[in-house]
Amino acid sequence: MNLIMKTSKLFLGLILSLCIMSANHVFAQGGDQILDGIGETDLNARYIFRGDLHDWSRNNLHSRIQGSDFRFEKDNVFGDVLSLSGDQEVFITIPGESVTGLESLSITGWIYLRSSEVGQVLFDFGQNSQLHLQAETVKENDGIGYMVQIQTEKDKFVVQTPALELNKWNHLAVVINIPTRTLSSYINGMLVGQTRNVSVNLQHLFDNRTVSNNKLYIGKSIAANHKNLNAKLHDFRIYRIPLNNGQVARIHANALNLDQPVVRVRDEADPSLPKYSENTPQLYNAYLISVPDIKVETAVGHLPSLPAYVQGVYSDGIEGPSVRVIWPAPEDNKQVLAPGTYTVKGRIAGSHIQPTAFVTVSEAKKITIPNQTLGDFGLNRVILKTDLENNDTKFIENRDKFVTVLAKTNPDNFLYMFRNAFGQAQPKGAEPLGVWDSQLTKLRGHATGHYLTALAQAYESASYDPSLQATFLQKIDYMVNTLYELAQMSGHPSVAGGDFVSDPTAVPPAPGKLGYDSDLSEDGIRTDYWNWGLGYISAYPPDQFIMLEHGATYGTDNTRIWAPYYTLDKILAGLMDIYEVCGNEKALETAKGMSDWVYARLSKLPTETLISMWNRYIAGEYGGMNDAMARLYRLTNNPTYLETAKIFDNIRMFFGDSNRSHGLAKNVDMFRGLHSNTHIPQILGALEVYRSSGAPEYFHIANNFWRMATNDYMYNIGGVAGASNPANAECFTAQPATLYENGFSAGGQNETCATYNMLKLTRELFLFDQRPELMDYYEQALYNHILASVAEDSPANTYHVPLRPGSIKQFGNPHMKGFTCCNGTAIESNTKLHNSIYFRSTDNQALYVNLYVPSTLEWTERNITITQETSYPNDDHTRLSIEGKGRFDLRVRVPHWASKGFYVKINGKSQKVKAVPGTYLTLRRNWKNGDTVDLHMPFHFYLKPVMDQQNIASLFYGPVLLAAQESTPLNEWRKVSLDANDISKSITGDPKQLEFTIDGVKFKPFYDTYGRHSVYLDVTLK
Ligand SMILES: [Zn+2]
Repeated sequence: MNLIMKTSKLFLGLILSLCIMSANHVFAQGGDQILDGIGETDLNARYIFRGDLHDWSRNNLHSRIQGSDFRFEKDNVFGDVLSLSGDQEVFITIPGESVTGLESLSITGWIYLRSSEVGQVLFDFGQNSQLHLQAETVKENDGIGYMVQIQTEKDKFVVQTPALELNKWNHLAVVINIPTRTLSSYINGMLVGQTRNVSVNLQHLFDNRTVSNNKLYIGKSIAANHKNLNAKLHDFRIYRIPLNNGQVARIHANALNLDQPVVRVRDEADPSLPKYSENTPQLYNAYLISVPDIKVETAVGHLPSLPAYVQGVYSDGIEGPSVRVIWPAPEDNKQVLAPGTYTVKGRIAGSHIQPTAFVTVSEAKKITIPNQTLGDFGLNRVILKTDLENNDTKFIENRDKFVTVLAKTNPDNFLYMFRNAFGQAQPKGAEPLGVWDSQLTKLRGHATGHYLTALAQAYESASYDPSLQATFLQKIDYMVNTLYELAQMSGHPSVAGGDFVSDPTAVPPAPGKLGYDSDLSEDGIRTDYWNWGLGYISAYPPDQFIMLEHGATYGTDNTRIWAPYYTLDKILAGLMDIYEVCGNEKALETAKGMSDWVYARLSKLPTETLISMWNRYIAGEYGGMNDAMARLYRLTNNPTYLETAKIFDNIRMFFGDSNRSHGLAKNVDMFRGLHSNTHIPQILGALEVYRSSGAPEYFHIANNFWRMATNDYMYNIGGVAGASNPANAECFTAQPATLYENGFSAGGQNETCATYNMLKLTRELFLFDQRPELMDYYEQALYNHILASVAEDSPANTYHVPLRPGSIKQFGNPHMKGFTCCNGTAIESNTKLHNSIYFRSTDNQALYVNLYVPSTLEWTERNITITQETSYPNDDHTRLSIEGKGRFDLRVRVPHWASKGFYVKINGKSQKVKAVPGTYLTLRRNWKNGDTVDLHMPFHFYLKPVMDQQNIASLFYGPVLLAAQESTPLNEWRKVSLDANDISKSITGDPKQLEFTIDGVKFKPFYDTYGRHSVYLDVTLK
């Protein structure tokens, strides 16, 4: 749905919740993705203290209370609140993880002070009394206020508040803004104190690695020299971003219902990044003289695909790149409903030159649809090799970090919540996972799905190590056997002659309850599996699926849900991966049983209900359920599953409306402003439905989406999420081709699981349509995001990868004990890094070499082994050696950046070839045993600018994005000045090490960058 609809729904939601609020005092909203207009990923923890100590963010960092002299009491402003008596022994502890992964830090909370004693500690967060952040009461002229101090071994920074009224609720906010180096205090939404030049390193203040070293107390100091905190507390929050004045004001006002709507559009310009004049041409556009007009033909009903780049004419002998044109992006297809012609004016950032597109809408125009002509190689047929100097490549390093820890995992941990849901005892040694799979998390079980896939892939890949393979196979069998046994219990009596409900559509509410709820607590969870219908398998009871049908929205309380079908998609995909790799029939049976359960329920629902469900923010996020169902059809030939796949059509995005009048199928961008990773897997599903059904509209959906996503929403590392407008770092920007205007969210960019899915989509599209730009993107995102998303010395990995100046990557889940979505896809990505180096034509007449990675390929269909030897990308040569013989086409990728030539030698002899950058070069030959092919593609430096702000650009060398190595956070972009005729004249360094210097600043591959970095630079040409 579009933004306006979404906003108006939110207002409706707000009105509803206001009604509830007025009846039951004011209480805060539960688990909203955009609570108070701030993206959920920016919130690390939230303690409402409404009768419990739960963290009501999605991170499950539940607090505990020590001592006994406290109570939850009724309050006439906030309903139930926590009251601390002032007893010395009473205080709250918060898990140490709550202050890891910080970009900056903001703490907010409501406090009702009852005593004027000084030295009462509201909170103290740190490692010890010399390294901490503390807020305590101090004497002010006319009463007591707060002193907030940051103390390190070297420095002390202090900010104070004016005196507060006693026996009254006050809202306190403390903001440490790392880029602006400020420490600010707010009372009741107003900035009341600010200290500048606060140079503090949050990675030093808190321990990111051993989180138990972080002591986080409310009502107690670390030094234990505090006075008793005699106060009531409500809604204490920890944010990982520096809240701005407007956000603090809104948090305060919303709690008191002061008429501040919850907005998802950005309401204030982000003041923390520089703005540039819109009319000033930047970078090469300053030398631009003209661009040609273009002519495009399109079929009736389909918006034309206008080229994102056209060739420009430059002055002063400058060899400029092709020029980025931003075309209008209509939200429907009204312009092309009848044959005829029309013109469209494009825009070039910072330039008055406006290219014109002459569009002919024609009935005769046919859009060709490709068939699948390529296949991939199983993971066991490609083995990664060391480079020419016998060093592990980044591919091997990252693979081994994951495989080593994966091999040590205990499957019982991944089965814990499944057994818990079915009321089964836990085997000895089983420990619950944390983060999104903990007891109360409504997404629990999602990591198990990823785990099944990772095990299957690790097993298949480890053909180089039989004992490792045996380890994985053992885990696979154990996992499947347990899940199968649990699934067999569903809908069957627990004792002979007992009650049961086998019909999935007749699942009753839990015994003793009148309706459905999502209570997963130890005491509240239902375990009456005999009532759940045949085939049901999940790590929670069926209620969330049923509640979604009944209109439930996303949230953490028991009337709300997370994303039941998202979790299920992971589990089904994992089971099918195991079936395909190991032939495990129980895995397939389990997947079929649950899919039958899904079909039984969803096939009964009217289309309107489905549209409502699949467009319901996060609650209706279903991963790639359409992908899973179409795949199950392919595996079983049962057409019911293809029908089920289509039940998951996101009708609005795919087809515009229920009349199917436009949408992505007709080349209309329907995903602007939407949550990225909700929608990319749905597109994968569309392609899988095309593969199974041949219905052309599903190919158009996937193909059109890919082109729009990579042209209009992509950052240079290959990621696509990171909007500041809407105010949610997980979203596509509100309008296409506006990354500078609407992107670069303070909360980060490039949610890593979204890039995982983009890569999956890209390779699948390439199997149908061998457009070289697909594998150009694949290389860009694989090297610069996926390889760059893993910690230096463990399999810890990134969620968002922040791309603002002087950012730092944050890595989580080193021990595989608690998974976010991105930790889940990371165990998949890193067990299949080699899956797209080579493809073959389905008739085995051609071999595609897509990526230049040292490896061996067993092309068993042709009895041929290909060995690739290279140190790429530390070298711009590679050698392919052929064992075996026969005639086939060797198709080698000529990367788009290979504009300095692409040289081929066969058996040492130079070949005359016409190798155009951004194509595949075909070497057709009757190959003989021992033939060698040497490829040389000289690397050079080039810039990739942001489409709507050309001076903000990244530096590349060949496929490698070079990041400036920063020592401190920055409040503006790293300035770099380069020679206009040849930027390499301004760069010195060592291509073999990929380490360079510009104006004294070091540059390294982003995938080798673990400290602060600038991926985007403010470039001036001289
Ligand atoms: Zn994610």
